[in-house]
Amino acid sequence: MNTQRQEKLIQNNVDLSSYSTYEIGGKAKYLAAPGTIEELKTVLEYARQNELAPFLFGMGSNILFPDEPMEKMIFISLKELKETNIDEKGWFVSAGMPMSHLALIGLASGTSDYDFCFLLPGTVGAGVYMNAKYYNRQICDILDTALYIDMNDPEFKVQSIHVDTCDYSYKNSIFMKNNWTIVGAYIKHPNFEELSKGIKEISRLEKIVDYKNPSELPNFFKYYTTMAETWAKENNGQVPESFENVVKDRGSKFHFDYPSCGSVFKNNYDFGEPMGKVVDRLNMRGTVRGGASISAWHGNMIVNQGEAKAEDIVHLIDQVKKSVKEAFDFVPEEELIIVQSKS
Ligand SMILES: Cc1cc2nc3c(=O)[nH]c(=O)nc-3n(C[C@H](O)[C@H](O)[C@H](O)COP(=O)(O)OP(=O)(O)OC[C@H]3O[C@@H](n4cnc5c(N)ncnc54)[C@H](O)[C@@H]3O)c2cc1C
Repeated sequence: MNTQRQEKLIQNNVDLSSYSTYEIGGKAKYLAAPGTIEELKTVLEYARQNELAPFLFGMGSNILFPDEPMEKMIFISLKELKETNIDEKGWFVSAGMPMSHLALIGLASGTSDYDFCFLLPGTVGAGVYMNAKYYNRQICDILDTALYIDMNDPEFKVQSIHVDTCDYSYKNSIFMKNNWTIVGAYIKHPNFEELSKGIKEISRLEKIVDYKNPSELPNFFKYYTTMAETWAKENNGQVPESFENVVKDRGSKFHFDYPSCGSVFKNNYDFGEPMGKVVDRLNMRGTVRGGASISAWHGNMIVNQGEAKAEDIVHLIDQVKKSVKEAFDFVPEEELIIVQSKS
């Protein structure tokens, strides 16, 4: 493996805070954002040769990075893997494509199948990994086949798995039980002729609308609402009601006003009430720790009010877990991924 090629892909001492919608995280000694699967393999090879633990992620919208990252960890964001095309197997989408992009392509190709992805932060790879959902629609409804690399494979071969064998359930999948990295997916579509037009249409709009770091939530919101409005204007139509409802729903919970990672805990369906309501019963909204607080608008969100540290968020998580255990006799499970810190 060409060392120069490898080193060109690796950046050193990078602030993880700009790779997370929490805008929290210390400096990573090693970070890479490969733009192709070949580059990803080169980075993985580098990690193996240098005995670095790879931490793979997408847009950082469900991650709490540590204030002091481990020195022997290499952080690999797949958010630059953003290819989409139609080939002989179907509609291929790379792992780093934002899920919200699927909603736009659906809009431009005449289907509402992906409307639930509109303004759902994060990448397709992560959505496939944890079966991202919005109300009663989830990624496994639209997935046909996932492409992944088994991180234990000496050759890092790309393998495929059909949705029926991915063991999907609520926020769970076969990927979460294995050391597999999703590099892309084949997504179902009802009409490939329309899809082809829709992909071209959205890629043309991408050149007009200004794109900034989507890990900053206001940028993410502005970009996708502007894309939808631009499409609607050009097509002499209205932004669909389903998109507007998402804007209202997420807007009412102030999803894009403060750095956060969305819901912190998974719902406990055995208990019978969503975690937001459980936290409300304990009157914990607004509880502050350092620069972090439990959102005043949604009990299952902890927001960064500006200068929060990872330890502030972890403290509030522990406080909720302890209070819920005492009051309702169960310990809520985190949805948020907390990355291990140096100490
Ligand atoms: C304001 C807000 C609202 C949200 N609303 C929702 C919602 O309605 N529904 C919902 O489901 N989620 C929601 N989320 C959470 C988030 O959108 C999802 O968890 C999303 O799937 C995360 O995507 P990501 O690319 O940012 O993943 P990251 O945060 O980068 O990674 C999350 C996890 O996935 C793993 N991972 C990422 N990419 C890959 C890959 N290619 N292969 C294998 N593993 C991978 C990472 O290792 C990590 O463990 C919300 C978040 C925010 C900030």
